[in-house]
Amino acid sequence: MRQEYVDIKAKMSRLKVGALQPKTVVRVGNHRIGGDTFTLIAGPCAVENLDQMHVITQAVKASGAHILRGGAYKPRTSPYNFQGLGEEGLELLKEMSLQYDIPVITELVDIQHLEKLALSADIIQIGSRNMQNYALLQALGQVERPIMLKRGIAATIEEFLLAAEYIINAGNPNVILCERGIRTYETVTRNTLDLNAVAILKQLTHLPIIVDPSHGTGVKEIMGPMAKAALACGADGIMLEVHHQPEKALSDGAQALIPTEFATIVKELSPLAHALQRKIHHV
Ligand code: PEP
Ligand code: MN
Repeated sequence: MRQEYVDIKAKMSRLKVGALQPKTVVRVGNHRIGGDTFTLIAGPCAVENLDQMHVITQAVKASGAHILRGGAYKPRTSPYNFQGLGEEGLELLKEMSLQYDIPVITELVDIQHLEKLALSADIIQIGSRNMQNYALLQALGQVERPIMLKRGIAATIEEFLLAAEYIINAGNPNVILCERGIRTYETVTRNTLDLNAVAILKQLTHLPIIVDPSHGTGVKEIMGPMAKAALACGADGIMLEVHHQPEKALSDGAQALIPTEFATIVKELSPLAHALQRKIHHV
């Protein structure tokens, strides 16, 4: 057996994230993330306007999405790019959640936004860029909301789990991990979606794991195959970016699926989910 694997398994088993604890199933409204459910999270990269949110929310919900995503605060690589609608975006998410009866996930980038964001978000997303922002992680200990922690672009599996440990230690046990690709020498894809990590994490932790083929690949054509691969290797769900007019999107338009493409992916996942005894549709 590979020694590094033996060592990390022993090390993690002594922590709160460790696999010796009972499996965590995160409740979000009537939905459960983890257990025998395969969760579908979908929506635009960024919340842009009311019209956009109506069209996309209605479409992804009709295709079976359990949770709506959308950034109100966007951590953009360039300061000149669209930074998100901020509070207005949070309000639009809340409106969609109520009108379409769907929980929402949105990213927290600044502790100052936490109180307001928690009023709109059913799940708080911590993005890759903040995976090791320990002050931010600790501030999540006392919020009554589950946290989805995205893996940093250069984070090892151990660093990823230790970041989750910070949140649990601070008092919030409802942590969901998200594999969103890591930076390698490859350039054809946006990142290298590390499905090794998903299978390894299943051995090392009791936390549910979501895979993000949108940021993990950046290539629309391979999102369906990688979504299937995620299901096959034990992930608890996927998150995909969907936009009705990708060419007009204010962020990540090039990797946005159109609603019919998302519907096709969900349809193709269904028989595989059934074969693997994972629930993918609302019951
Ligand atoms: C996102 O999911 O909106 C996002 C910004 O992703 P990441 O933090 O993985 O880059
Ligand atoms: Mn994006």
